[in-house]
Amino acid sequence: MSSLQLIDENKTFNEHLLPYIQRYYDGKDDNGLNYHIVSVFGSQSTGKSTLLNRLFGTEFEVMDEAKRQQTTKGIWISHAKYIASSKAESGRTENTNHVFVLDVEGVDGREKADDKDFERKSALFALSTSEILIVNIWEHQVGLYQGANMELLKTVFEVNLSLFHSNRQKCLLLFVVRDFTGVTPLENLEENLKTDLNKIWDSLSRPENCEGVKITDFFDLGFVSISHKHFQKERFEEDIRLLGDKFASDSLFKQEYHRNIPIDAWTIYMDQIWQQIELNKDLDLPTQQILVARFRCDEIMQQAYDIFEEQYQMVDFGKLEDSQDFADALKELRSEALAPYDSSASRYNQSVYLERREQLIKKIDLRLTETNSQRLNSVIKKLVSEFSEQVQIAKKKRDAKFSDILAAQSAAIVTQFREDASKCIFDHSRELEQLKKELSDVSEQLRHKEKNLLLSRLTKKFQTQFKEKLAEITGDPSTDLWDRVLNEFNQITQSLESKYVSDDQYDYQLGMTEQENKDTHVELLQSFWTKFKDIIHDYVTEDTVSRILRNKFEDLFRYDDNDVPRVWLNTLEIDQQYNRARDTVLSLLPVFSKMVLTKTNEEIVPPVNISTTDSEELDEDDKETTFAELLSIKQQNGVLSRVKKEMDAIYIEAKRSVMANTTS
Ligand code: GDP
Ligand code: MG
Repeated sequence: MSSLQLIDENKTFNEHLLPYIQRYYDGKDDNGLNYHIVSVFGSQSTGKSTLLNRLFGTEFEVMDEAKRQQTTKGIWISHAKYIASSKAESGRTENTNHVFVLDVEGVDGREKADDKDFERKSALFALSTSEILIVNIWEHQVGLYQGANMELLKTVFEVNLSLFHSNRQKCLLLFVVRDFTGVTPLENLEENLKTDLNKIWDSLSRPENCEGVKITDFFDLGFVSISHKHFQKERFEEDIRLLGDKFASDSLFKQEYHRNIPIDAWTIYMDQIWQQIELNKDLDLPTQQILVARFRCDEIMQQAYDIFEEQYQMVDFGKLEDSQDFADALKELRSEALAPYDSSASRYNQSVYLERREQLIKKIDLRLTETNSQRLNSVIKKLVSEFSEQVQIAKKKRDAKFSDILAAQSAAIVTQFREDASKCIFDHSRELEQLKKELSDVSEQLRHKEKNLLLSRLTKKFQTQFKEKLAEITGDPSTDLWDRVLNEFNQITQSLESKYVSDDQYDYQLGMTEQENKDTHVELLQSFWTKFKDIIHDYVTEDTVSRILRNKFEDLFRYDDNDVPRVWLNTLEIDQQYNRARDTVLSLLPVFSKMVLTKTNEEIVPPVNISTTDSEELDEDDKETTFAELLSIKQQNGVLSRVKKEMDAIYIEAKRSVMANTTS
């Protein structure tokens, strides 16, 4: 198939145009603009197709001279197989600039309404798309301001005005005078034609802003002649070759005629133009061109993005540990995706090209930002754990306050993150905030841990000191036992509290607020009081109390006030001493049963709330016991019976020894 019926008798656009074009020129190796479109116009059977076939090596259908049969209506397109040449020996030269030819068939300008419609539509189409319009005209018709050609030209001009009055787009009207005899010189014919053209031009009703415009504002005019095909065969061929020279030398094609639509989009443009024409819509070529640009730029953008996506998938970002390598990789992916877009899409309408470029960048950046964020998140993770380690190391040096250590290490980590993240072009403010938040959370945790460490250290100190004192006091029990215990408790806790408040200045070191400091102080007291309770309760058991009371009894019974062992002289003395010691010891039992202060006769009550979750788990009965209660009635009775037995045993033993002495 050497030519394609672009628009058929039914005015349907051929959807195979793109593959047809691409068979000859796909524009992939250059900018896609190295092509030309030439149309031919003129009454039917004026030898248009014959001329094109000779001039461009096309194979358009030619009317059979014997049968005088009409050729198929429609618009045909063909790639020029060659261009006729007078210079080459073969008479033809290569079509290096990809001339495509549109042959408009079936127009004779005066018949039916349908033909008139088609004539107008094909004129619109040819003018919208072509750089050069060949107008075929018989010599004998020149100067006759009448006939089919004049009608046709009127249509062409009208259509042209409607198309380009707001956005002028020039093209070349190349008049080819056929069956040129040479009797009248071409220059004269040219003058005659120009007069006719101006007459037609002047007769047109023009759009408002086009009153003063001349025909030459819209068209460049060209004139050539071709001798009679039959009567001057040689000249006929030579004339065509000379015309071919003009096409081949590019002297006819001016840059401004070109629509500057890359070939890959040109077919879409043609299709759209025809649809608009068919729908009898006003043709707005700039808009059409923008639509085409959008369509194509979208396609190119998608292709570029696909390339990007493919290359993106191939990168193992996890391996790019160095932040500079990582940043470079992202940058490269970005520019490698933009390069093919730029080279293809920059040929289109600039605003469309740039607009789509922005979209492409946005799409790419979305992906890259995501990747960057992922990396930054793992960097944050690493830095935060590094932060904890650094704080511990700095703490061990013991040369700075804890709050200062936290602040300094935090700042160092933030700087490190900024340095790392800023190597990449993408914004990292969100991640920076995230890091700061995590650092502050971890700082808070570390501060909390540090505070608890302090509390438990002080509580431990309290425990050892208090236990010691308790044993000392209970070793020498008295009725004011709890006054003495509380006094010791107060002394120990006060000395420890002062350590907390001033000595170590831990509150200050931890960077606590006044309230936090108060709360911590309460916590410390709670801890002391809880320990106090635990130690006392652990200590004051039936066994211990029994032992203490027994010892006390022994001390009182066996030793005199000077700690000298008594020597019993008679049993009366034993009885007296026994009663005295027993009374004292028995009076001490209630003292151990409940922590009551002798001064006020009140139970010891902690000044801070130390109720723990444990107490809530206790039964109703247990709940009624107060902080001060140590031994239950049952336990007291147990102690009593044990101590009594032991006291009695000691008493009996003493008596026996006296009796043994007296009997011997
Ligand atoms: P089209 O309808 O304009 O494409 O014309 P065709 O190329 O089909 O030719 C119509 C008829 O005119 C054919 O019989 C051709 O042989 C004849 N013809 C072609 N070129 C010339 C020419 O230069 N002079 C004359 N007199 N006849 C021609
Ligand atoms: Mg024809």
